Amino acid sequence: MTEVAPRIGKWTVTTDGDVILSGTNCPQCGETVFPAHTICVRCGSPDTHEALLRGPAKLRSFTIVHQLPSGFPSPLVIGYGEFEGRTQVLAPIVDVTRNQLIEGRPLALTVGVTRTGENGEEFVTYQFTPIEPWESDDSLSARASSQETGHA
Ligand SMILES: [Zn+2]
Repeated sequence: MTEVAPRIGKWTVTTDGDVILSGTNCPQCGETVFPAHTICVRCGSPDTHEALLRGPAKLRSFTIVHQLPSGFPSPLVIGYGEFEGRTQVLAPIVDVTRNQLIEGRPLALTVGVTRTGENGEEFVTYQFTPIEPWESDDSLSARASSQETGHA
């Protein structure tokens, strides 16, 4: 059984498989954010409009978490991707090796299983996947530290 993970924000998948995040833009100050806010987080204006965010994004920073609640894959890479207009979104980064975690590298928006529930149900949400295949023998699973944080 597949379920949508509890949503931090609204997202959709097109018939072509493209993932689109639904945030908001403030015409007053130009700020675009995801998830959506009815009041601008920058200037407080109540006049916000829907703004759609599409990949690719660029990797800005990340952390690698090795100790997680049950049901999550370990290690789990979580990072900020920056979209056009400088909007940054936090999401898991999947199918990635340590050598691919370099600032500015392009990330595709994808959808995948974030965690597995106690009864085997799979929770799906948006995530980032590196666009270019890079050569790497530095597997994340081979790293021993319990947690590390870095700015890409
Ligand atoms: Zn504003």
